[in-house]
Amino acid sequence: MGKKYKIVYNRDACIGAASCIAVAPKTWKMGNDGKAIQLVTEFDEKDLQQNLDAARSCPVHVIKIVDTTGKEVA
Ligand code: SF4
Repeated sequence: MGKKYKIVYNRDACIGAASCIAVAPKTWKMGNDGKAIQLVTEFDEKDLQQNLDAARSCPVHVIKIVDTTGKEVA
């Protein structure tokens, strides 16, 4: 079994730039309040690259990816 990862999202600080949604539409969608809604909490290795790309695309860095030990990977 591959490694698992978790998304930690500081929604209060989201500015609605939507780049996370463009990069990872399975994980993010836009809410009516203009802030991204997180659709996925935990994911496995095969989805790591896309979720990393989305986290790195966020201009205000409110998306973090951590592994099961709590270590931050992005
Ligand atoms: S990229 Fe960042 S600021 Fe933009 S919608 Fe996603 S979480 Fe919010």
